[in-house]
Amino acid sequence: MALKVQKYGGTSVADISRIKNVAERVVKAYDRGDSVVVVLSAMAGVTNNLIDLANSASKSPDKHELDVLLATGEQTTAALLAMILKSMGYSAKSLLGFQAGILTDMTPGKARILDIQSNRIKELISHGYIVVVAGFQGRDMNGDITTLGRGGSDTSAVAIASAVNADVCEIYTDVDGVYTTDPRICDRARKINIISYDEMLEMAILGAKVLQIRSVEFAKKYNVPVHVRSSFSEEEGTMVVNESSDMESVVVSGITCDKNEARITFKKVPDQPGISAKIFSPLADEEIMVDMIIQNTRSGGETDLTFTVTNDDFEKAKEISEEVAEEVGAEEILIARDIAKVSVIGLGMKSHSGVAATMFSALASENINIRLISTSEIRISCIVQAKYAELAVRALHSAFGLDKES
Ligand code: ASP
Ligand code: MG
Repeated sequence: MALKVQKYGGTSVADISRIKNVAERVVKAYDRGDSVVVVLSAMAGVTNNLIDLANSASKSPDKHELDVLLATGEQTTAALLAMILKSMGYSAKSLLGFQAGILTDMTPGKARILDIQSNRIKELISHGYIVVVAGFQGRDMNGDITTLGRGGSDTSAVAIASAVNADVCEIYTDVDGVYTTDPRICDRARKINIISYDEMLEMAILGAKVLQIRSVEFAKKYNVPVHVRSSFSEEEGTMVVNESSDMESVVVSGITCDKNEARITFKKVPDQPGISAKIFSPLADEEIMVDMIIQNTRSGGETDLTFTVTNDDFEKAKEISEEVAEEVGAEEILIARDIAKVSVIGLGMKSHSGVAATMFSALASENINIRLISTSEIRISCIVQAKYAELAVRALHSAFGLDKES
């Protein structure tokens, strides 16, 4: 007997017949003797539709009212599932975020969970209820409804799992787990059976869309075992857990590709103290996140300085850079938008040498030029021309022995 939190995403609750399918799964676990807390997303597409509605009601919808509106998506699915479970003869109860004791900070649209007062959930469980919680929402100190950012039901689920001390947090989705790379890019991608929080975090940050980044941070912080699996099959998915020593035997566990960045270069700036500060401070003031930075030395006391930002921030970053360029005496600003960041991720990098060399050789053998490189303890990223991104991913997938046997 276990205590399970099961989270179902939008495609798994897209219509009544799918919600009935969810009910069947929940009941199966319950009938085996498990206690189950279910966390739900809104039906697929509903959150987007609500955002469109808000935008047609107002040019700049009030952020608090937008939270109230968006929270209705999850309110709907939670009530429907509880209704179905009851009509099947089970004790079930739906709870909105605030009823489930989910307390957040006061940031509308992107609130962080501060605490979960889980006594109500625990009491319902102890009385044999299947508890159905609306994901993606909580309440702030004023008692107002907040939402947790797109994909936030994952974080609701992991946070609740931690608060009730669940044995596992199962994330049911429309894919059967986390893959070594995007199967749409590389048909030799394999499902990963087990992966560490840190690797999953890198993959999520780099654009693997299976889990919200914050949910992985939360799982890591509170050591919640997460099982990513399909709601349409019985197969085991991917376990996301604390790292263990045997994980380091796998040098690279995943390859990602992110086309959401653009490159800005300051050409020929004076190679002097304070120049970087002059360039990056105004970007920071506008809350623009700079990802990679590289400084080339030239002769003659001048240097080129290149960095990348996300596409969303690009126009603003370019504008600021053009102003700063005059101030610091740069010759010109160069930009490139057609770039992609390909990354290899693996805990084993901590203890194996030669990963970078293997990566660069694999790219070289396909004649792919590397524009920028950055590394962390468990990741190496290269910027390449966007048109070579898929080729790069496939080459790296083979070079690191990740291809499934055909
Ligand atoms: N319904 C919200 C969204 O679409 C939250 C979630 O699905 O996790 O982003
Ligand atoms: Mg999701």
